[in-house]
Amino acid sequence: MPKKTKKNNPRYVVGIDLGGTKILAAVVDDKGQVLGRSKRKTRGKTDNATDPETVTDRVVTCVQDAVAAAGLKLGDIAAVGASAPGPVNVETGFVARMANLPGWEEGFAFGPELSKRLKLPVWVDNDVNLGTLGEVVYGAGRGMKDVIGIFVGTGIGGGIVLGGKLRRGVRWAAGEIGHMFVDISAIQRGGPVCGCGEPGHVEAIASRGAISRRLAAAIAAGEPTLLAAEVKDESELTSGAIRRAWEAGDELTRRVIAETQEVMGLLIASVVNLLDPEGIILGGGLVESLGDAYVEPVRRHAYAHFFLPDRAGEVKIMRAALGDDATILGASVLARSGL
Ligand SMILES: [Zn+2]
Repeated sequence: MPKKTKKNNPRYVVGIDLGGTKILAAVVDDKGQVLGRSKRKTRGKTDNATDPETVTDRVVTCVQDAVAAAGLKLGDIAAVGASAPGPVNVETGFVARMANLPGWEEGFAFGPELSKRLKLPVWVDNDVNLGTLGEVVYGAGRGMKDVIGIFVGTGIGGGIVLGGKLRRGVRWAAGEIGHMFVDISAIQRGGPVCGCGEPGHVEAIASRGAISRRLAAAIAAGEPTLLAAEVKDESELTSGAIRRAWEAGDELTRRVIAETQEVMGLLIASVVNLLDPEGIILGGGLVESLGDAYVEPVRRHAYAHFFLPDRAGEVKIMRAALGDDATILGASVLARSGL
């Protein structure tokens, strides 16, 4: 881990969310207020290079822009926290790989390289871990110590905060909730297969990606649905398209979402039966798109399967509150933790 620094103003840190498509950076004060922010594409407009060195240079530019937007200089910043989508060794800042970014397959010492360029201490962690931490410190989980974050998008990610601290696991791989087994019959049938290659995982059934695949297969099979007119191929089955069909009462979409809500309820019940946390936070693109109407049936299914059912309501099942800012705020908490 980087050494502590006394040199710079501990009031200001920078939080970075490095994703496969975009980079977000923000200057954050000690109250969690964003003072300046910047956003840029992970892939360049003309230069399509995604190698680690080039992407790290783009992160540096994004940070400089955020600092300038806050009316500050890099010298005013005490430390930097950054997220990456994949397993991260938090002690060394080594990113094992970046989802969907060619050139990162061998991993990259992202933390040290960014630190060298910015001349600031840099901490790096997994994006879902930091999203959960952000929600616990500044969002839906404020005031809670034991919280599990579950983020439903293209895949399903999770973060575990116990006793107010992120639990990262011996291989930095804890919280991979999307890869929990929920369907034995899928294992026997050999599919559908998860992004990781295994059948039976919840991500292969209830993620936005899995819902899109199921809807696309139903459209191809000629099942009646409003989506048939709107959507030409699976790539157009975005959260927004799914929401529109769902809100319009499309029977196929309603049925598929209802099935995934039951699976998510069972998943949450399993997690709660294992860890008995104060709160479960549900976030991610699909949850944000469908809103409370998605969360309510999930909550009902979960409560129906809790151990100690008469005290089920003591475990709060909540929607994430911070949207895209959860990760940069969590990154700012990580940056501050070393000061
Ligand atoms: Zn999996």
